[in-house]
Amino acid sequence: MKISKGKVVSIDYTVSNNQGETLDASGNRGPLIYLHGHKNIIPGLERALEGRETGESINAVVPPEDGYGQHNPRLIQTVPRTAFQGVDKIEPGMQFQGRGPDGQQAVVRVIEVTDESVKIDANHPLVGIELSFAVTIRDVRDATPEEIEHGHVHAPGAHHHH
Ligand code: ZN
Repeated sequence: MKISKGKVVSIDYTVSNNQGETLDASGNRGPLIYLHGHKNIIPGLERALEGRETGESINAVVPPEDGYGQHNPRLIQTVPRTAFQGVDKIEPGMQFQGRGPDGQQAVVRVIEVTDESVKIDANHPLVGIELSFAVTIRDVRDATPEEIEHGHVHAPGAHHHH
């Protein structure tokens, strides 16, 4: 089956930077399963997969503007150390589930710590990087009407309301 809008697609992937270092891979997590044509994955990768079919392997180079965008200085914030109550030790490089300046959910990384304050960066770790994807398409199926309505994939047997 060919990939087009409204198909549920399973892919194995490895993503590297232009120095050939692996940044992320589906690997032991198992395939990434997403709803095609609904902005569930970055636009550059979605475009590269359009019209491909089960069993194909493709390579796609995705510039930042079709990936996670450019580094946004507004997403760097300094918050009081007291915002991390209950956390014994805070060090640069640690990651927390938090919120960006517009209230959106984001993973924030600690970049600097003083006695009074913590500087955090809510940019996606892959911003500003040209990404090289190696992708193998494992499965393509029609989405259910409910999946189309929700705009995302449902795990087999899972029921939810939102
Ligand atoms: Zn849903």
